[in-house]
Amino acid sequence: MPAVHEPSRETPLLGEYDVVVVGGGPAGITAAASAARAGRSTILIERYGYLGGAGTAGGLSTFCGLHANVHGEHRQVIHGLADDLLGRMAALDGLSEPHLSLGNRIQAQAFDISAYKIAADDLVGGSGATLLYHAMVTGLSMTEPSATGDSASDQGRRVGAVFVESKSGRHAIRGQVFIDCSGDGDLAAWSGAPFEKGTTATDMLFPSLMFRINGVDPATAGRAWETVARKMDEAEAAGTHTFPRKRPIVRPQRNPLEWRANMSQLANPDGSPVDGTDVWQLSYGEVTGRKQVLDAFEFIKATTPGFAGSYIVDIAPQVGIRETRRIVGEYLLSQDDILDCAGFTDSIGVNGWPVEAHVTGDVQVIFPHGDNPRGFNQLPFRMIVPKLVDNLYVAGRCASMTHGGQSAARVSGPCFAMGQAAGTAADLALKGGIACRDVDYGQLRERLVSDGAYLGEEW
Ligand SMILES: Cc1cc2nc3c(=O)[nH]c(=O)nc-3n(C[C@H](O)[C@H](O)[C@H](O)COP(=O)(O)OP(=O)(O)OC[C@H]3O[C@@H](n4cnc5c(N)ncnc54)[C@H](O)[C@@H]3O)c2cc1C
Repeated sequence: MPAVHEPSRETPLLGEYDVVVVGGGPAGITAAASAARAGRSTILIERYGYLGGAGTAGGLSTFCGLHANVHGEHRQVIHGLADDLLGRMAALDGLSEPHLSLGNRIQAQAFDISAYKIAADDLVGGSGATLLYHAMVTGLSMTEPSATGDSASDQGRRVGAVFVESKSGRHAIRGQVFIDCSGDGDLAAWSGAPFEKGTTATDMLFPSLMFRINGVDPATAGRAWETVARKMDEAEAAGTHTFPRKRPIVRPQRNPLEWRANMSQLANPDGSPVDGTDVWQLSYGEVTGRKQVLDAFEFIKATTPGFAGSYIVDIAPQVGIRETRRIVGEYLLSQDDILDCAGFTDSIGVNGWPVEAHVTGDVQVIFPHGDNPRGFNQLPFRMIVPKLVDNLYVAGRCASMTHGGQSAARVSGPCFAMGQAAGTAADLALKGGIACRDVDYGQLRERLVSDGAYLGEEW
């Protein structure tokens, strides 16, 4: 690619912190709040003007993975800071009661997007962390570059500072411990930590563009979420319509005048999933997504009782990205771990969401094996620890998981758990003056339990 030379320059230092968290999705929210509550000077850097990640910017408006189907009984399995956030959202009247999802086999919980933004501001701001909004982290500087290059055995790399670009210009922010909650593993990739990223329909999940419909007559609409998919199948069979994917989710929000719709699938012209780390593919995905949204809405409005007077009240600010980079850390959580309800001696929390694979034209859901399984796997501390870099944790959907493992443990609930563990572990690493991977699990466990987290002991 042709290039333009940029002269080297001195970059002004915006601040120095014990803990620097990049990305304010569910993982970043709890990472920043837990590090700050431990007394660490903490900054959370977010490219948008609000927290919530895909939950707000991607317009999800539903928490998955807070609950598990434990031997046939629906239980909330994510606690700790997530309880604090949910309490604040409920106080704002922005949280619905859990509802049954995926063939009535597991619970999910709808929320109001504005309530999520306000509650997350309060939780993170109230913890003492500094919020830096409208700042995109675009690069980093290592303090101790490797003497021997990229050898897999080479430990000891340290991130020294990140660079942010904003309306105020370009700045550096120094830190002692960094927590990559960017969803895309930006810091991990730039720091030289190993990662994987799929490119095809079998190794990377497809994105979707979410939208919400207002002006629904709920009494007439009834349980329309049960009929939309059937009507779409019938229309396709009759040859009047084609839709980008099966298994649409069209459901009422807390105020049933408003319904959310998750029914698009964003593929490139060659059929591969739109890649959330490629700006051209993202641009193509936005335009394609909005066309799909309009087609889907017009179909629902024309065919579904109760929707005749409805309109699109919101198309999500950005396409929702399910999967890009996943680090290859000290342990890779696998699809077998999900389906076998695996346990780990270094558990930092649990995941109860099944494998939900967004494949070409469809969504494949696989629940754990067995007649009456315990319904969740534990999440090992090692999955948030990257290789090679000493002062970095990676939490959330870009943590160390295989493609199949990530198809389950990427949802909000486990991301809250991973973030809380990363923020707490950052404090312990700083206290001990040790590498992030060397944190004593016994101490981490004690802290997480005393802070209300559930680590997966059977009831
Ligand atoms: C269409 C769709 C529907 C989904 N439906 C559900 C659902 O119903 N329920 C559910 O629980 N989960 C759902 N998920 C999955 C889930 O929401 C995400 O996987 C989860 O939000 C991941 O959390 P995270 O904190 O790892 O990352 P994200 O939520 O992706 O947050 C990452 C944050 O980092 C910021 N960021 C990224 N890069 C930078 C940078 N370089 N500098 C500064 N900031 C940066 C982003 O702006 C974002 O706020 C869905 C996902 C998609 C895409």
